[in-house]
Amino acid sequence: MYSEKVMEHFMNPRNVGEIENADGIGEVGNAKCGDIMKMYLKIEDGVIVDVKFKTFGCGSAIATSSIATEMIKGKTVEEAVKLTNRAVVEALDGLPSQKIHCSVLAEQAVKAALYDYAQKNNITIEGLENYKPSDDIHDHHEH
Ligand SMILES: [Zn+2]
Repeated sequence: MYSEKVMEHFMNPRNVGEIENADGIGEVGNAKCGDIMKMYLKIEDGVIVDVKFKTFGCGSAIATSSIATEMIKGKTVEEAVKLTNRAVVEALDGLPSQKIHCSVLAEQAVKAALYDYAQKNNITIEGLENYKPSDDIHDHHEH
């Protein structure tokens, strides 16, 4: 049911924890699994130099957030905005269809953290102009 990569990231998640004085923090959640994901970014000169996450949720949510942190570390904020849940799923060699929403969460957590960074620094990030944070993290439903 789960690829080896999913299992591996679930058993040994990368970049777990928090960053003190993070430049951007994003917290998102979904009602379906009750997953809550919190993403911390350290950004220097527009480059993500460090990223950590905390996820309370199912194994897929942990695996997707783990690989998402690996995928955006060292990237510019503009590149990180382009991270899609599809790319996350591909990097994990697939996810069961009923768990795709967990990868959506990883994408949203990254975007929420980048949005937070943009707000704090009063800048706009290309590709994030139309992003709107949800008010209630428990009220998210995918379509
Ligand atoms: Zn989940």
